[in-house]
Amino acid sequence: MKYLTAMYISLSESLGIYTPDQLHELLSNKQHSMPISRHRAAIMQSRIFFFCAVFAVLVPTWSLIDLLFLPGSIWLELLLIRLLSAATFALLAWQARKEPDLKRARFMLAGMLSVTPLFYLVSDHWLQAYELTGTEQVIAELYALLPFVMIAGLTLFPLTLKELLAYATPMLAVVVLSSIPEAKSDISEAVSTIWLFSLILGVAMFASLNQLRYMLSQVNRASYDVLTGLLTRRAGIEMLDLQFRLATISENHLSILYLDLDHFKTVNDVYGHDTGDAVLKYAAQQLSATVRKGDSVIRWGGEEFIIILPTATPDEANDVINRLMNTGLGPRPDGAPVTASIGVAEVQTDTVKDWKALIELADHRMYTAKTSGRARSIGINEAQLLWPESCAPCVARNTADVPEPFSDSQPEPLAN
Ligand code: GH3
Ligand code: MG
Ligand code: MG
Repeated sequence: MKYLTAMYISLSESLGIYTPDQLHELLSNKQHSMPISRHRAAIMQSRIFFFCAVFAVLVPTWSLIDLLFLPGSIWLELLLIRLLSAATFALLAWQARKEPDLKRARFMLAGMLSVTPLFYLVSDHWLQAYELTGTEQVIAELYALLPFVMIAGLTLFPLTLKELLAYATPMLAVVVLSSIPEAKSDISEAVSTIWLFSLILGVAMFASLNQLRYMLSQVNRASYDVLTGLLTRRAGIEMLDLQFRLATISENHLSILYLDLDHFKTVNDVYGHDTGDAVLKYAAQQLSATVRKGDSVIRWGGEEFIIILPTATPDEANDVINRLMNTGLGPRPDGAPVTASIGVAEVQTDTVKDWKALIELADHRMYTAKTSGRARSIGINEAQLLWPESCAPCVARNTADVPEPFSDSQPEPLAN
């Protein structure tokens, strides 16, 4: 038991698993965020493209070796399945150039991994009908290595355990099935083939999971802001680009809100940077809690945020703003509500050519909100929504649920 626990601990450490969440992230993709799934799909598709393109050329080229060393009748049969396989690889390579999408990437990987074992099963069936000798036998045995090559290929993809099992089980079945005739004459040979395959499979799974862990930590670091936990500007740009394209292709609505907190510098100046950080963090939590699941909140920079509202019309965007204003962004250290100036822009109503123009427009309207007196939003046709004078939930929060640094004792204002 002690030995098993030590094994588990060392395996967890080598895979970077220290929390239950980290374990779940490796088991399945249920908890993977959108940037992670997208990044994983992009990596998978680019590798599928590379390998399928290479295989599309190599597989038919190998028939020169078949021609030199195998009997002419087998060569012709093999050429046929080689051409079929090459065509499938070429088709997969062409598909892999499309927009990264996890479902597509998984499907294509399944396709890529199944071509070779199928090729092997058919060729094995044909080759067994011939009495091969010498070099012919060596060439034929090379075919038996194909499933091993494919299983080793799994190491190149950052996959979850669930995905790995889904890909590996049919391949293991192919190896076991093709070992059955061999087992009748030489059981030890068949067992050693299956054993070797399982070993390579184990190493491939470990390498693949390790790659996923590394990718998760890299993408998380680049995608989520440390202070607020919101999307970083970099990840936000990817999201904006994607949502803008989706909205224009489907001619759907897409609204964005550009928020800049009002007079935030004075919080820092009077109460210090740490208190400023706490106010910022709380406001970010409020923003996240107010939007729907498919919406994205980005920390665009400093105390500026962008909220992406896919499919939201200008009226629906105003509903979100009303909700934000009524829920509030928390209190300032002096008890006054934190407010923001907000600019709204929408893809279909404001005819813009790209997401950058959409942001510029929202930024411009946010600036108009600032110069018009702050604590308000400016939407299409200069439509204004004002922050409520007294924000009941904000006042309630002043006593019950204030941001951490001022919950015990109010920090003394800094001496200027
Ligand atoms: P306005 O209403 O015109 O926006 O006034 P403002 O004081 O908010 O002005 P501005 O937007 O120019 O100032 C932003 C301030 O936000 C300046 C900077 O010190 C502060 N800030 C930016 N990032 C952080 C951060 O991560 N933590 C803290 N504590 N302060 C930050
Ligand atoms: Mg600012
Ligand atoms: Mg500001």
